[in-house]
Amino acid sequence: GAPVSMVAAIGNGAKHGILIKGAETINTLAQVDTMLFNKTGTLTQGQPSVVNVKSYDFNLATQEKLVAIEKESNHPLAKAIVNYLKIASQVVIETTEVRMGQGIVSRIAGETWLVGNQQLLAAHEVQLTEAMQADLLTFQKAGMSTVLFADDHVRAIFAITDKLRPNVTASLDSLKRQGIKQLVMLTGDSQKTGQMLASQLPLDRFEADLLPTAKAEIVKRLQKSGRKVAFIGDGINDSPALTLADIGIAMGSGTDVAIETSDVVLINADFASLKHAYGLAKKAQKNVV
Ligand code: ADP
Ligand code: MG
Repeated sequence: GAPVSMVAAIGNGAKHGILIKGAETINTLAQVDTMLFNKTGTLTQGQPSVVNVKSYDFNLATQEKLVAIEKESNHPLAKAIVNYLKIASQVVIETTEVRMGQGIVSRIAGETWLVGNQQLLAAHEVQLTEAMQADLLTFQKAGMSTVLFADDHVRAIFAITDKLRPNVTASLDSLKRQGIKQLVMLTGDSQKTGQMLASQLPLDRFEADLLPTAKAEIVKRLQKSGRKVAFIGDGINDSPALTLADIGIAMGSGTDVAIETSDVVLINADFASLKHAYGLAKKAQKNVV
């Protein structure tokens, strides 16, 4: 059986809203020296709201198309847009393709509609005017996520903010003191948006504009260089990285798949329990030696 200290650690974790799957997880967690954090829904609450909209050619019929598309998505930004527009939609979507980390491509009445970031629009050769690019930059520099809606031209740009989770800064500081060498934010969001958020947190660095596969590549690269890596995410556009990491840590508010495949679950999605989990693992390891 597992050493008594491991069993005690699992029990203590449970009391603090931390689900630790198996004694081996405690061992590995104690060895972690690098923690990678997803941004949206992990460092932030994952309950974003629309704070600004630039519309260019965006009548009610066009808005209904966007609502129909975003209702099919479980992305937090999609929910923010649906909540903001507050309109019903009878629009029938013919097909929907999710471009992981970039957005959605839908067919409606034989026409292609795009919802997502600049890369998605660029891939479909949709041009942005200089005024639109200036709007995007302004929003992103203020730390907002941006979502564009377009067919053959841009119809609307949404600026969306999400609050940081409570206890993030104190928890990151504490993880550093407990021996984590590198704290890194990985985001599919833009460089500018990532920069603004990262500047508010005690992180060592961040990487932005990442597809889900790129997040997984970073995990692999760090492992090859000898690091023990924990990835903390919510399962939206970060499942490959969560699975590949030495320790996958899911926010309890995350997707079912993330919760099932991870090694540790922060049931209340509370950052204070992350530092507690790491502290428990370190203590249990000391008691075994
Ligand atoms: P993060 O890594 O921070 O969680 P994501 O990879 O989930 O970010 O998303 C990256 C970007 O892709 C978003 O900022 C947004 O512009 C776009 N995007 C992805 N899915 C959607 C969607 N369903 N609706 C609108 N925008 C989306
Ligand atoms: Mg995410």
